[in-house]
Amino acid sequence: MDVDTLIIGAGAAGLMCAAHADGRVLLVDHAKKPGEKIRISGGGRCNFTNLHAGPENFLSANPHFCKSALSRYTQWDFIALVEAHGIAWHEKTLGQLFCDDSATQIVSMLLREASDAGAELRLETAVEGIERGPDGFTATLVPAKGHRRRVFARNVVLATGGKSIPGMGATGFAYDVARQFGLPVTDIRPALVPFTFPEKRFAALSGTALPVRATANGASFDEAMLFTHRGLSGPAMLQISSFWREGQQIEVDLSPGLRLYDHLRERRQSHGGRNLTTELAGVLPAKLVQYLAAPLGLTGNLADQGDARLQDICTTLHGWHLSPSGTEGYRTAEVTLGGIDTQALSSRTMEAKHVPGLYVIGEAVDVTGWLGGYNFQWAWSSGWAAGQAIAKT
Ligand code: FAD
Repeated sequence: MDVDTLIIGAGAAGLMCAAHADGRVLLVDHAKKPGEKIRISGGGRCNFTNLHAGPENFLSANPHFCKSALSRYTQWDFIALVEAHGIAWHEKTLGQLFCDDSATQIVSMLLREASDAGAELRLETAVEGIERGPDGFTATLVPAKGHRRRVFARNVVLATGGKSIPGMGATGFAYDVARQFGLPVTDIRPALVPFTFPEKRFAALSGTALPVRATANGASFDEAMLFTHRGLSGPAMLQISSFWREGQQIEVDLSPGLRLYDHLRERRQSHGGRNLTTELAGVLPAKLVQYLAAPLGLTGNLADQGDARLQDICTTLHGWHLSPSGTEGYRTAEVTLGGIDTQALSSRTMEAKHVPGLYVIGEAVDVTGWLGGYNFQWAWSSGWAAGQAIAKT
């Protein structure tokens, strides 16, 4: 069987690429259904892009690499596509756009675009042994049912994503193929992932959430934090998990919007007879105040607390230092940080510089977005960039 382009991985980036690469396109995926991560994303509503998406929202060994694709296929282009398909959407918070109804609408839209472009989709099909010849690549397709067969393709696009959520079929396939063709792969690690702590330290607070400013390794995010049975989650923690490294502390400002020292001093004057913990429970979740009462020695009335004592308490609450034992790992991570080294790729076309015809797109590349629709935007932009380039060859 001969095709112009074999796209491996029918996820966000692969489907986008299939919709734009002209010629005979075969899109294969070993999963039973295409776009499964899209389907489960954003709590079933898919946070499909971000109004403010720009290069500064991405981590990569080369922060400039993502600029070209992001500027040529923007969030506005994707919004226009969503609207052309009559999919209703809304902004939830911080520029994050979600479907009003269901993430499956995005999957259906992409399938329709790919099929209108003439791409053929084969599911439950694995790919084995890719070899390169003088005019292209030969790969062996291994369907779950039926016979294996060889396919010749002028171009091969690696769109198999990262290693997060192996339970959904994520593999290190793209990294293995990249190495086979001499493309370096950076260190990879789970990111946008909850933290774990020794001895289920926060189990008693499980379910408690509050807005915080979380800081790790110089990066700060003002978002919600959630205590869980195993540790800390919520957007603030997922965001800084991409910056944190083993052995480091994270710093949590439990009251980023209110200077507690000024507030408590004021209240001491007007309500000196009030219990300190009762007062704090007015600005922080009561369960958390209860949890902190013994370690911080939160006893007595407001009037009993001198300025120095209040200052001490507030310094701790504005800069709570925590030492995670680790993260929940690829099992629950939303993305893989790192990937195929951008040095080996053209930022305009996503084609490997020294392996003509081999393209890498989406999460497999060392470009990782913040939480908030950025990772899908990278999948759309990089998938489009490769598709366009292939269409022109
Ligand atoms: P994927 O979408 O992962 O697609 C890869 C495809 O390749 C899959 O279909 C897989 O089955 C297939 N595949 C893998 N290995 C093989 C192989 N060996 N052979 C054949 N096929 C293979 N990002 C956002 O921007 N907004 C969100 O709301 C959001 N929510 C998320 C929620 C969850 C729970 C998770 C896990 C991730 C979320 N993300 C979100 C991240 C986003 O899903 C990914 O960054 C994005 O899907 C990456 O696109 P991709 O096409 O590179 O990879």
